[in-house]
Amino acid sequence: MKKRLSILTAILVTVATAGFVTFCSRPTPSPKASAGQEAAPLQAASKWPVHDMQRPQPLVITPGTFSTQQTPGQPPSDAIVLFDGKDLSKWQSIKGGPAGWKVEHGYFQVAPGTGDIETQQKFGPIQLHLEWREPAPAHGTSQGRGNSGVFLQGHYEVQVLDSYHNITYPDGQAGAVYGQHPPLVNTCRPPGEWQTYDIAFTPAIWQGGQVTVPAYVTVFQNGVLVQNHAEILGPTVSDHPHYDPAVGSVGPLRLQDHHGLIRYRNIWVREIKPVD
Ligand code: MG
Repeated sequence: MKKRLSILTAILVTVATAGFVTFCSRPTPSPKASAGQEAAPLQAASKWPVHDMQRPQPLVITPGTFSTQQTPGQPPSDAIVLFDGKDLSKWQSIKGGPAGWKVEHGYFQVAPGTGDIETQQKFGPIQLHLEWREPAPAHGTSQGRGNSGVFLQGHYEVQVLDSYHNITYPDGQAGAVYGQHPPLVNTCRPPGEWQTYDIAFTPAIWQGGQVTVPAYVTVFQNGVLVQNHAEILGPTVSDHPHYDPAVGSVGPLRLQDHHGLIRYRNIWVREIKPVD
């Protein structure tokens, strides 16, 4: 009888100890404001308390896929597709009328002498993806080798150039904010290969005819950071840039005809909208 009791005691102690350990190792419930307790602090520059479950959830989208040299990737589900390989219906000539660049085999190519083309739609803050390919074999030197450009808001040029073994002034090579900021590195692929730009751009903010916050741009070329939240000093010009109120806060995306046979494919933008 004594032996049975000691076994029972041992079992009870084991169960009680296990229960106590389990209780102690439970996750701590998240802090909640209730009567007599202090409310969670507000997020900086927001009306929402830290960790507030009532804060609106971010929009759910489907991500895209990456491109290969052979095949363009798919855009994210909320992207505005500006060129999907078929036609230039979202574009127009800056001289007026339809865009006259050549569309074939899933890309379009600059038609030298026809002038720049621009999107019909105007944009403010955007994420932009586009792919470009320099003509092969390369010919010309410095700025004369495969020159084109991506003009954000129609005014600020991110340079497109064959900068693979082609020396030019640093603030004019591929990945540069033309005339303002050289790229952080030269990450160019050889001519004949597709290259990518992934760009985040925010226009300048104006108040009473003055810029209170300048435009900024971040650029990844072939997945490598080449412009890191670079301050744009004004529209692209050949001398000292300065802001002009005519620039405003929205504009089209423009591609440059600089007489080179540059090809483009897989172009899409996402409008950047602030979350609550
Ligand atoms: Mg250019």
